[in-house]
Amino acid sequence: MTGSLAMRPFSDVRQVRPESVGSARALLALWSDNGHTSKTTQKTPRAPLSIRPTAAITVKARFLLTRKCSARCGYCHNEGQTDAGASLLSLHQIAAVLDTMVRQNCLPQEIVLSGGEPTLHKQVADIARLCKSTGAHVSMASHGGHPDLLEPVLPWLDELKLHIDDADPDRQWRSMGIALGSVQQSIAIAQQFRGLHLVANHPLAQVQRTAMFVAWARQLRVHVKIIHRLQSRLQPFMRWKNLGYTPLDATTWLHRNGWHRLFTKRCTDIHNPEPTFFVDTQGIRTRLEGVSQPIFPGQDLRALLAS
Ligand code: SF4
Repeated sequence: MTGSLAMRPFSDVRQVRPESVGSARALLALWSDNGHTSKTTQKTPRAPLSIRPTAAITVKARFLLTRKCSARCGYCHNEGQTDAGASLLSLHQIAAVLDTMVRQNCLPQEIVLSGGEPTLHKQVADIARLCKSTGAHVSMASHGGHPDLLEPVLPWLDELKLHIDDADPDRQWRSMGIALGSVQQSIAIAQQFRGLHLVANHPLAQVQRTAMFVAWARQLRVHVKIIHRLQSRLQPFMRWKNLGYTPLDATTWLHRNGWHRLFTKRCTDIHNPEPTFFVDTQGIRTRLEGVSQPIFPGQDLRALLAS
């Protein structure tokens, strides 16, 4: 850790009594003026940039907070989680992972909160806040079906990715078991947070339905990421130009209205080109599918990246 790292190690969360972990006071105890003394009366965390170590390598972290989900998507792979018994990744564990990353100068540039459905995790707002304190870009993937659970998390997010199958309420319900009205409520709440990037992740299933979905999202002022599932052969049939979009690059399209964007992503077995740590209750790994390594502390993250 560098001398400029004006942050108390995340592992100091272990000094907080278990019953108080997750409270605002326990979270505030994670920060101090110089990394040596605790000031639990401090009202706000230090500026995020002050905690970023120098010469850190660029990595991304995906915290798979829970396997629970209130949706029922037929194609769900639940983010590569294979142990049906595993569930909640705690604030305590996440603090320990971040502590390890800080100590090894491996702090992620981007942190993704995922699942399952992360809003079902009771500590999700505290977790998002802790992640935000690292200075990383923090995003969350959600189906948006629980606006009341989503709202407390939003102040700590830079980006919200809402998984939505269909713009038709009946089809959306049949496909995911999530009410489109609740999703629209989540969108309306999220749009009250200035600077929060909002994107709808939409799996490409039928050309016409996707065209209708894009028009619906544009009307709601929500950008769209089109996910091409494995074996999908529809990509050649999507005529984005006919829908008023022109390519900005290989994966980004801009509507003629000058602001609405489409992003396209092909779902392959290599989910992330950048070095990524996938963290769940089983451990920390660099691929969605694969053997987990023992979790923190002491995990040599750079060696894990190189393996
Ligand atoms: S919302 Fe995501 S995690 Fe939940 S069932 Fe659908 S694909 Fe799976």
